[in-house]
Amino acid sequence: MHTDPTGKKVTRCTATAAFMVRKAGVRMTRQRRAVIEVLLQSYDHPTAAQIYERAKDILPGISLATVYNCIETLAAEKLINQLHFDNGPCRFCPNVEPHMHVLDDETNRVIDVQLKEGVTPEDVFELPEGVHIKSMEAYLRGEIPDNCMSEIKK
Ligand SMILES: [Zn+2]
Repeated sequence: MHTDPTGKKVTRCTATAAFMVRKAGVRMTRQRRAVIEVLLQSYDHPTAAQIYERAKDILPGISLATVYNCIETLAAEKLINQLHFDNGPCRFCPNVEPHMHVLDDETNRVIDVQLKEGVTPEDVFELPEGVHIKSMEAYLRGEIPDNCMSEIKK
């Protein structure tokens, strides 16, 4: 359990890069480790370009193509979520617990939000008989104050 910048507890799917890679059934490389570490430390839902910029701090020789490959592998294995907001570049989220996103239209900030404890999507939406929700991909739009993002890098 980690605490996100808003002080709320956020369940990251794993604490370690090694665990994620093992779960994906792929070989751990220095490049994959760097990319996963960046993702696990990022609460701002970075783009691939931002992941690349941050991964270079950990592994200076890493290439953008390698970063893309690694992200693709992790997304294909559902170890990270790929998010699409309008026509902007894809953003990535390592939180695989059910949650939704709030997008700030002005700043493009994105944060995770979870349903209140004990509440399920079935409680919130008028769903036709027999419809069961397996995951949530909708997002909310609003304003996100600066203090929500104070610990977020770059
Ligand atoms: Zn998220």
